[in-house]
Amino acid sequence: MTIDLHTHSTASDGTDRPAELMANAATAGLEIVAITDHDTAGGWDEAEAALPDGLTLIPGAEFSCAHIDDDGQRISLHLLGYLFDPDHDGLRAERARLRVSRLGRGRAIVDNLVADGVAVTWNRVVEVARGGAVGRPHIARVLVENGVVGDVDEAFRELLSTSSKYYVPKADGDVFAAIRLVHEAGGVSVFAHPLARRRGAVVADDVIAEMARSGLDGIEVGHPDHAADDQAHLAGLAGELGLIATGSSDYHGANKATTLGAFTTERVAYDALFDRPTARRPVSQRAAGDALP
Ligand code: AMP
Ligand code: FE
Ligand code: FE
Ligand code: ZN
Repeated sequence: MTIDLHTHSTASDGTDRPAELMANAATAGLEIVAITDHDTAGGWDEAEAALPDGLTLIPGAEFSCAHIDDDGQRISLHLLGYLFDPDHDGLRAERARLRVSRLGRGRAIVDNLVADGVAVTWNRVVEVARGGAVGRPHIARVLVENGVVGDVDEAFRELLSTSSKYYVPKADGDVFAAIRLVHEAGGVSVFAHPLARRRGAVVADDVIAEMARSGLDGIEVGHPDHAADDQAHLAGLAGELGLIATGSSDYHGANKATTLGAFTTERVAYDALFDRPTARRPVSQRAAGDALP
């Protein structure tokens, strides 16, 4: 069984419409796919309406969070929430807050670039985002369009990196508050790509342990941004802390090289994550009353 629990659509910084994402997931041979756009559940309805036979959908989202170290260093991290109630007031307000922050911060990065004579306009970034939660990949695409950089990856290595002078952080939420909020909304939480080192600083193991004590359910072990030794380390940590280990592609369509199903989650891990009461249930075309798809 092929299970991919982390993908993006045009509801955030992916390039497939939610309906296209479902079709592509089926073509890629996935049996279960989660849609996890940044800070939005805006793709759920379209994905559900377009769900092909034989594919099960896990509605989710990837929440922008941060952790402040003992020495005051701010580390940005991502929390996947699955099967939560999209109408839960607190969690809906947090998504809205984060999307508004993404707009102001995206504009601030573009302003910084423009002030330095870099060819990019905010209007074009908004067009490219097509109504989705705005992120640096949208700015990167405009930089590619304008010939400023050769590809999206180059934009991230230089102009858009967290260490660039143009970079502006988002108003990320506290990760422990986010874990609690996902649970209050009836969902399940997984720490996304904990050791994606090329994106910037990563948290130490004791922070992951504290997240586990705060109710975190799982951690992504298999991920395209994880080195082999880091995956082995995370698998051991998951065992020690009683966290469920997942594997996912973090597919973003044409915005990233990773393909659907590049990393996958074991069926036993899937069952452990979702065989519990949640506000939403996995969606499939099967008749109601069937066993957990
Ligand atoms: P933001 O959410 O605006 O801070 O932008 C971060 C997003 O950019 C994440 O969702 C990543 O998936 C994506 N990203 C990070 N590095 C790269 C890269 N080298 N190429 C393409 N996308 C990237
Ligand atoms: Fe992304
Ligand atoms: Fe992420
Ligand atoms: Zn992601």
